Amino acid sequence: MSRVFSGIQPTGEPHIGNYFGAMQNYVKLGREYGKQSLYCVVDLHALTNPAAFDPALLAQRTLDMAVANFAVGLDPSQVIFFVQSHVPEHQELSWVFTTITPVGDLERMTQYKDKSGQLESVPAGLLMYPVLMAADILLYRADTVPVGEDQTQHIELTREIARKFNHSFGETFPEPRAVYNKQALRIPGVDGQGKMSKSKGETSTLGLFEPMDSIWAKLRVAPTDPARVRRTDPGNPDVCLIFDYHKLFSDLDTIQMVDVECRRAGIGCVDCKKAVMTGITAHLTPIQARGEELRDDLDSVRDALAQGAREARAIAAPVMEEVRTKVGFLKL
Ligand code: SF4
Repeated sequence: MSRVFSGIQPTGEPHIGNYFGAMQNYVKLGREYGKQSLYCVVDLHALTNPAAFDPALLAQRTLDMAVANFAVGLDPSQVIFFVQSHVPEHQELSWVFTTITPVGDLERMTQYKDKSGQLESVPAGLLMYPVLMAADILLYRADTVPVGEDQTQHIELTREIARKFNHSFGETFPEPRAVYNKQALRIPGVDGQGKMSKSKGETSTLGLFEPMDSIWAKLRVAPTDPARVRRTDPGNPDVCLIFDYHKLFSDLDTIQMVDVECRRAGIGCVDCKKAVMTGITAHLTPIQARGEELRDDLDSVRDALAQGAREARAIAAPVMEEVRTKVGFLKL
């Protein structure tokens, strides 16, 4: 049976881009793969980004990410959901992998080049990020990795590391394949400035747990088809981000109505935005209510994470033991 692994950055509260891009997919894969699906809040990775890392917030953000994923329907009793730093084998395997990974390969990673270019002093951990990611995946012999397309290079490197290890020490790891959720690329920011992204600030994002009045305040001023200057001008929903949101949140009748009425100026943009707000409210209200419940009972969230770490370690420990034997560490 194949096994799924995905790492989740502890970036605090996610937005609807994260929800449709990744979290919904986790829920779907979780139902399909059950305990063969592992989801890991990658707090060790968070340390490699000095711009976003804040030790006072890391633990809270880690918990927030667990709450968010449980609130959208990921059931920790059905999957394995845990925190990376709670399973020390990630770091141990990562170290072994650093010894077989050429620095040149790491320096060629596009994400490394982008991030290091913005820093005066580049931490070695930033360079090693993809090695740790390879350890995250291979520690569980996962062969299926749901990621965004920006992670393609890292998955390729993971495959390369698996091949190299297998070649040097004997067949141990499968070569994982990336599975992409293309929808992630198509969710525009509410400011109309390209993809929804936290790095662009709050004006770009609609938070999964954002109050409805705050979401409406952003939608109200969101750009629409620029060619539609007057209410009587026909519009083109295909170039309008509000229509993209309809496709995510509205029922089929509403989507078809907007598609027709926008083109013949039968609906105004304010009414169109109100219609999408109805869909957003219907969609997010139960998620937000579940989030509230979980936040009121954080002990149960912590218990679920502790159980997840035990289950993850039950898989990781024998794999790491096999690696120790294969690389020749002394056993006492
Ligand atoms: S009617 Fe709706 S889809 Fe058409 S331009 Fe206005 S907001 Fe966009």
